[in-house]
Amino acid sequence: MAEPQVEVRRSKRRRQTVSAYRDGDKVVVLLPARMSRAEEKRWVADMLSRLQRSEVRRRSPARDSDEALAERCRELSAKYLDGTAEPTAIKWVPPMRTRWASCTPSEGTIRVSRRLRDVPGWVLDYVLVHELAHLLVPGHGPAFWKWVRRYPKTERAIGYLEGLSAAAHLDLGLDDDADVVDAKG
Ligand SMILES: [Zn+2]
Repeated sequence: MAEPQVEVRRSKRRRQTVSAYRDGDKVVVLLPARMSRAEEKRWVADMLSRLQRSEVRRRSPARDSDEALAERCRELSAKYLDGTAEPTAIKWVPPMRTRWASCTPSEGTIRVSRRLRDVPGWVLDYVLVHELAHLLVPGHGPAFWKWVRRYPKTERAIGYLEGLSAAAHLDLGLDDDADVVDAKG
């Protein structure tokens, strides 16, 4: 993982606590105002490694293999789609130029970009629910979103993916309508 850009913010109200969070491709570290430069350096390094460890923990087990991905889809379909979405094949594919993932409803196949292997599990889950829902409803109409929004972190995940796409200077979407419509016809 590349070293992220770090922004240090000092606060007079903050006395003891140090915290850090990721904001796009940047990490913001909040420190008490009175901390010395040496302490700041130590804390920034410490918070970066803690943040990285927690991000690694939050990754999905589905990142490991196509089998793990298929297993996660079964769980998500059972939980949010009444177990009705069953892909015939699902696999990790090399990074695609414009898409995070895609689905061919007529064949029941789903492809997920390896760019998503390191995102938090709840973001990957959203992508999988989205693609699985296309097996039930091909386009992006109200019936489609009604299924997808059963997954409670849908809005947050959409925001996360938009941020990731902007940070990487990519113009990535989940799947383009054209592909889904073509597959339907
Ligand atoms: Zn879609």
